Amino acid sequence: MRPGAAAPELRIEFFAFANINNTIRLREGRLLVRLSDLLEGAPESVVRAIAHILLAKMYRKPVDRAHSTRYRRYIGSHEVVNKAHLVRQIRGRKQLRSPRGRFYDLDTIFEDLNRRFFHGLMGRPRMSWSSTRTRRILGHYDPAHNAIVISRIFDHPAIPPYALEYIVYHEMLHLKHPVRMRGSRRCVHSARFQAEEKLFPEWERAEGFLKRL
Ligand SMILES: [Zn+2]
Repeated sequence: MRPGAAAPELRIEFFAFANINNTIRLREGRLLVRLSDLLEGAPESVVRAIAHILLAKMYRKPVDRAHSTRYRRYIGSHEVVNKAHLVRQIRGRKQLRSPRGRFYDLDTIFEDLNRRFFHGLMGRPRMSWSSTRTRRILGHYDPAHNAIVISRIFDHPAIPPYALEYIVYHEMLHLKHPVRMRGSRRCVHSARFQAEEKLFPEWERAEGFLKRL
């Protein structure tokens, strides 16, 4: 960067690439960075190394050897290689549908909720209606594909917008609060998750509606 120049606005998101891939672009004065979601949870030194490499690439500066070694060693580690292999297998297979239903558009609903509850800061995952009209799974967030899938039964004029929004909001909270391990137990709906869920203005009404579904 030029000395004295203000740092550009940064937008960084984890992205479900099929391979370990990281990209950086400058667009309208904003730096857009996409990191492979396989690097989520990488040690801070690795994240620093990636940041250094991407910025060097962006501004055509030499890459510090220590950083490139640190990064290559990490993505070459067994754990990451195996994970990448698994993800390629799954991502190659999973069929996602369109976010646009007959009555409701999931992308629009996501962005509206994003603005209302998350300051518009949440990177939109792939939004998809389920292929079948399932009542068993109303919605789920799939971190391997970075996708939110909502049961097609909600794409119906008899479904009030608040009920569908509540389901999508719940899945968005899964993005915000990744599954944590408490000892050997997976903590999916933490206390903070549940408290935040109740911030949805019509949560009681929505819960009632879903029980009668
Ligand atoms: Zn859940």
